[in-house]
Amino acid sequence: MARTKREIDKERMYKKLMPSGRRAAKAPAENAARDAGGARAESAAAAAARTSAARRPSGPRRVAVPAMDNRRTAVVNTMEAAVLGKLDSVLERFSCCRCDRCKKDIVALALNKLPPRYKVLAEGQPQPDLDPQTNAQVVAAMIQAVIKVRANPRH
Ligand SMILES: [Zn+2]
Repeated sequence: MARTKREIDKERMYKKLMPSGRRAAKAPAENAARDAGGARAESAAAAAARTSAARRPSGPRRVAVPAMDNRRTAVVNTMEAAVLGKLDSVLERFSCCRCDRCKKDIVALALNKLPPRYKVLAEGQPQPDLDPQTNAQVVAAMIQAVIKVRANPRH
């Protein structure tokens, strides 16, 4: 009997996880459709997709291998948060342009210079602190990126 219950649980878990993946993949199209009109007649599925998309920023960022991510854990390149967390202070120190394009160019350049540091993070789990050596590496990569972008901005 216990085995049957476990199988049922497994099936329920599977059903819980799979539609969420499909909903997440469809969300942009649904949002586009909603923006294009017909705002009122929103299906429950679309509303759920919107809710899960809205909830997403509080959890780990889904950037690395979305197909493997679910609500509880995600594979995350922790270098991304490290770079983003230092962006404002580096821009200020080097009086660099803060337009969207320059910021993104700096982030992309810095991340391409840095080795990825993938970790499996649970939902709500904070990003681990960087060791001092990695921290210095991140700062150095960002300074190089800022100098490059400032010399030749693409905005
Ligand atoms: Zn700019």
